[in-house]
Amino acid sequence: MEHNNKYHILKKYFGYDTFRSAQESLIDSILEGRDVLGIMPTGAGKSLCYQIPALMMEGITLVISPLISLMKDQVGSLNQAGIHAAFLNSSLTAAQYYKALGFAKQGRYPIIYVAPERLVTEEFLDFALHTKIAMVAVDEAHCVSQWGQDFRPSYLKILEFIEKLPSRPVVSAFTATATKEVRDDIIDILQLRSPAMVTTGFDRDNLYFGVMTVKDRYGAIRNYLETHRGTSGIIYCLTRRQVEEVCEKLIREGFPVTRYHAGLSDEERRRNQDDFIYDRVPVIAATSAFGMGIDKSNVRFVLHYGMPKNLESYYQEAGRAGRDGEGAECILYYSGQDVITNQLFIDNNQDNQELDGATRELVRERDRERLKKMTFYCFTNECLRDYILKYFGEYKSNYCGNCSNCLTQFEEVDVTEISRALLGCVETSRQRYGTTVIVDTVHGADTAKIRSYGMKDNPYYGVLAKVPVYRIRQVLNYLHMEGYLLITPDDYAVIKLTKESLEILREGRQIVMKMAKEAPKASKDSSSRMKKGRKASLGQEAFTGKEESLFDRLRALRTEIAREEKVPPYIVFSDKTLTHMCIVKPRTKGEMLTVSGVGEFKYDKYGKRFLDCIENETGDKE
Ligand code: ADP
Ligand code: MG
Ligand code: ZN
Repeated sequence: MEHNNKYHILKKYFGYDTFRSAQESLIDSILEGRDVLGIMPTGAGKSLCYQIPALMMEGITLVISPLISLMKDQVGSLNQAGIHAAFLNSSLTAAQYYKALGFAKQGRYPIIYVAPERLVTEEFLDFALHTKIAMVAVDEAHCVSQWGQDFRPSYLKILEFIEKLPSRPVVSAFTATATKEVRDDIIDILQLRSPAMVTTGFDRDNLYFGVMTVKDRYGAIRNYLETHRGTSGIIYCLTRRQVEEVCEKLIREGFPVTRYHAGLSDEERRRNQDDFIYDRVPVIAATSAFGMGIDKSNVRFVLHYGMPKNLESYYQEAGRAGRDGEGAECILYYSGQDVITNQLFIDNNQDNQELDGATRELVRERDRERLKKMTFYCFTNECLRDYILKYFGEYKSNYCGNCSNCLTQFEEVDVTEISRALLGCVETSRQRYGTTVIVDTVHGADTAKIRSYGMKDNPYYGVLAKVPVYRIRQVLNYLHMEGYLLITPDDYAVIKLTKESLEILREGRQIVMKMAKEAPKASKDSSSRMKKGRKASLGQEAFTGKEESLFDRLRALRTEIAREEKVPPYIVFSDKTLTHMCIVKPRTKGEMLTVSGVGEFKYDKYGKRFLDCIENETGDKE
């Protein structure tokens, strides 16, 4: 590189003016020859941390990445930015593979993405042992850990490979997974040498979090799509069947939606995923099988049709929204049925066959505990963001102003009477029944079950006849969350009393609960909030109508160019870059280069077309 300066590279190739906080210190450490471990949330910009040093160090940087789609995406972005990079994985034919390897030997690529299972193959070693490898960068480094969600045995080959090299390169590792077990595993398994560790906060402040408990989840999701037409989003479902149902219904109602789950053929999965990534179909309904390979930066919403099994999964899936830093929404549509579905998943989990019985039971217990914490996320009336961050061990303020709880008006309601009735009913029926029986009893329902269990004779039968069932359930959930009762974690899910129950039953403890005055305005205001979020990330007021239409024009041009270049639209320019263009409204090359995300190489390639588009749209009309 002629300009051996990290700021210059950042501007010239990536079009950005400043580094984000953690990036610079990680880059500096690498350049000093130190190993690093970067722990930063999705969208924080981990790629630049190894890509920029790769362009400055003498020798080749190998990037280890778990999935073909991720490699393709990253290499595509680099090529678009004018940087020579290649990938070596099983998607190449033998001829393509040897050709790429040949170019690599000639030193054409400063950056090469490699699948971990390739590393210790004969051909690859032959290449690596005769080349200067400056750095091995391990992306998604949590894949080395069995504690993580995405353990990949092939990641264990990385160390084996490094140990074979004649001189040890710098090893850098990056992940979005925070837990200590995973972090320790990464250092240990990759044998990082006193790595510089940088952890940024886990908050994603451009994401709005919401929980909705609605009877008709499908209807709620359909309405959401109705008010967000043309924007890209993911609908996560718990089961394959749900994916099929939701997708089919939405299509029947005229929404462009595609689907993804492990039961589809490879061919269909690839096609549907591409349709989504290339913005040919804006929305995809999917199981959790859809995800890790998705770096699509302009996902504007992630809706959960059902609650995932733990907050790790939820945050990872929801986190696929708004990678470009623009406003985006994550809404979970909860139903009590989800707990049962997840309970079944846990009980039937076949993943841990190699463990002995006692350990397996321990794992199961841990899973149940996680499920409980996930469930409480759906019940809490406190700040949702705060709840998530606390779960990951981070303490912030308890008001974010950008979640459904922070945006709901609550009032304090005395629920002592309801609480006493519930606990009293549990006690007098000798702690033998689950939530439905207890709620039905105090509400005075006349069902077959109630009659056959003799609950009509229970002293609490019908004492809450005037209180709506949903309110009784809310209080029950609250008592559960606060430890005033237990629900046994097995198929029968029986309510049990705790020590704390007695404070209510015997000591006359008063129970006051926050209750929503009105339903949160989540879906109503969301598109305007998203637009505000869009500009807020650039410190601006909301878009004007003119800017809105300019944005649409620019987006159409981006799609056109993406088609010509055969890359996904967000790789041409991110939503954030287009937004910034709408605000700056550049008229010259110099002005265009001030837009975040427009580097020189990209300007030369298609800057003029965007300038023309802006001129046509704004003209002298202003
Ligand atoms: P991660 O791998 O941490 O999830 P990426 O490396 O994919 O994140 O980066 C996410 C987005 O942030 C990309 O669109 C990238 O171009 C952008 N980005 C990275 N660094 C910067 C920066 N310093 N300034 C502005 N945008 C950046
Ligand atoms: Mg990444
Ligand atoms: Zn909040």
